[in-house]
Amino acid sequence: MRGREADALRAQARELADLTVGRPVYPRGLIELSNICRKDCLYCGLRVGNTSVERYMLTDSEVLQAAEQARKQGFGSVVIQSGEIQSEGYSSRIENLVKEIKRSGMAVTLSLGEQSADTYRRWKQAGADRYLLRIETSDRDLYKRIHPDTPAHSYEKRLQALQELRAAGFQVGTGVMIGLPGQSVESLAADLLFMRAIDVDMCGMGPYIECAETPLADAPESFPVSERIELTLNMIATLRLMMPDINIAATTALDTLRPGARDRAIGCGANVIMPNVTPDVYRDKYALYKRNSPLETALCGYELACGQPGDPLHWIRRKG
Ligand code: SAH
Ligand code: SF4
Repeated sequence: MRGREADALRAQARELADLTVGRPVYPRGLIELSNICRKDCLYCGLRVGNTSVERYMLTDSEVLQAAEQARKQGFGSVVIQSGEIQSEGYSSRIENLVKEIKRSGMAVTLSLGEQSADTYRRWKQAGADRYLLRIETSDRDLYKRIHPDTPAHSYEKRLQALQELRAAGFQVGTGVMIGLPGQSVESLAADLLFMRAIDVDMCGMGPYIECAETPLADAPESFPVSERIELTLNMIATLRLMMPDINIAATTALDTLRPGARDRAIGCGANVIMPNVTPDVYRDKYALYKRNSPLETALCGYELACGQPGDPLHWIRRKG
């Protein structure tokens, strides 16, 4: 859909969002814990094969300070995100960080890649509320084309991880990249059906952005940048119509491609934003893709819901 047709789709989605999740937009403070990663995803600047990245790891006190600062600024929730690191030491460190942050009353979301079912359970028990793990694409063949052919990059395992996260009791979020080389509109439509089939509580979909130091950057593009933005907005609107009571993020990647596009996503029915609260010195090092500094634009007409956890209505209803 383009032009007036797309406008009508998006307006209807926003109208439905107003009736279900309402006008509040929930801010989550994004803490980028580390850019160390054991994986080699062909699209991502943090891939282990990218030797030009200077790797960092926040200290516990840097994480706790960032969380505290976020709380003071009115965030009801933080997201701890990092490259995929699997070790006992790391698992117990996260466990302790979660416990500590939960004392302040904030909701905690983790986005730390694939872990063992036992680790998910430990982190849930420590008090983490939500987990974000994008399926990246629900299209098995495309997934294979954008990841190396190794056991660490298995579509089946990614799918299983989402099931294990649900079983561990998390509010589960997933999502996809939009405009990947080799992706079709049909494949994106299948992504939306996938979200419904696995009954997600939260979803974050953003445009794919070429990162110069990655193998996928040289692949022929499937959609030019402007189409990726319009497609993302249509995807958000359609998902809102399909799943009226879930939380949908207006992703930062939208603003990276075009300042202001993130706010347009709210006008299409998104109700979550994730401003970066990582200490400034580390920001340039956490480059999933090359980004300009995302402008914190005004949320015209919507209320920023300060100090509230913003649990997905979908999850509240499912829990009964
Ligand atoms: N390592 C964890 C979390 C950090 S990566 C994980 O992979 O789950 C977070 C997200 O960044 C990924 O899920 C992916 O969707 C997104 N991402 C990575 N490279 C990207 C790129 N070039 N363009 C757009 N999004 C990208
Ligand atoms: Fe690592 Fe996540 Fe990037 Fe893949 S997408 S290389 S798992 S940080």
